[in-house]
Amino acid sequence: MCRASETPLERILSGLRELPGWVAEQPAGRLGEVIIKSREIIDRTEAVAAEATRRFEKAGGYRSDGFLGMVPWLRVNGKLSGAAAAERVDTARQLKELPRTEEALARGEIGYQHAVAMARTAEHVGAAQVRKAEATLLKAAETMDPGQFVTVAKNFEHQVDAEAVLADANRAHARRYLQLGEVTNGLVRLEGQLVPEAAAMLRTRLEPFLKPAKGDERSTGQRSHDALLEILRRGAIAGDGKSSGGGPRPSLIIKVDLDTLAGIDGAPAGELEWGGTIPAETARRMACDSAITRITGLGELEQELTHAARTIPPSTRRALVARDGHCVFPGCDRPSPWCDGHHLVHWADDGPTTLDNLGLVCGAHHRKVHEEGWTLRREKDARWHATPPPLKVLARARTG
Ligand SMILES: [Zn+2]
Ligand SMILES: [Zn+2]
Repeated sequence: MCRASETPLERILSGLRELPGWVAEQPAGRLGEVIIKSREIIDRTEAVAAEATRRFEKAGGYRSDGFLGMVPWLRVNGKLSGAAAAERVDTARQLKELPRTEEALARGEIGYQHAVAMARTAEHVGAAQVRKAEATLLKAAETMDPGQFVTVAKNFEHQVDAEAVLADANRAHARRYLQLGEVTNGLVRLEGQLVPEAAAMLRTRLEPFLKPAKGDERSTGQRSHDALLEILRRGAIAGDGKSSGGGPRPSLIIKVDLDTLAGIDGAPAGELEWGGTIPAETARRMACDSAITRITGLGELEQELTHAARTIPPSTRRALVARDGHCVFPGCDRPSPWCDGHHLVHWADDGPTTLDNLGLVCGAHHRKVHEEGWTLRREKDARWHATPPPLKVLARARTG
């Protein structure tokens, strides 16, 4: 098949055409090797492309195609994003000054991402500095994944030029932001870039709440979201515990009126202090355990019910935790810190805030018994039973 007139690139391309058929025949046990070899080919080809890019740019080859620079030429012709094209052009330029790094990449001793880290380091402290330590750095690169190697490279930069590293970090720091959008279609978009210390603290705090529960059907993203909610909820309760004088500001303030809490047809929706409306059943859940929620705008209900009537007193809460221990929803064992005190008969329906009328439920199950229409009851034998909503409620929920 191989004709002498074929260039090496043509030979590689004809080899590539044969690969899918060959890979399809490989047993699963050999696929790891297939992936490793494929990665090596991709990375080593990057070294070839880097050298070609450098020479093509120097010769102004991109101009004949009407492009104003190497990056836009590569973006279009190399099918890359702007950032990926710029990274390749920058790396190609830096590797000219780091021949040992380029050779290591061409031989497959390091990966493309290691070479990018070396090039970035050269960009920050100068190629001459990197060349002095190039052998040591390459040795580290050979045994580390690129993420770990970036840490080594950053340490090196710090040793060479601590001020530049600080200036770099300060520039990055200026790009920090956190943006909470308006409620759109029932959800709020959260977007931002965190300084590394904030991200590290957030990860540490989220971590204990990320584990999937038994039979958990939530996605990773949904679990991260719920973990954040759990942290915020606990922060609110901890703040409440330290209450002194006027007390802390409850972290969740909802405006809701009597008809809404009583679940009367035609009642308005509840409102969150920061904007956005919530369905009546969500308002009933939030109001159910007053530890984190303050309710405003109750009007006549305010006169009928004192604040004390709907707040679970600390002694009652302790007794509730002692009796239930964890979420009482059958099959759930989330511990008491995860739980709200749910009123079996809502206080807005004249249910008392006493042990008989309360049950510990975790956030997810509290939602089930309010928004999702489940019924929770405690039998005479002290066992808890949960019943799914009647079909007509489901049907109404679907058509409504
Ligand atoms: Zn409740
Ligand atoms: Zn539960």
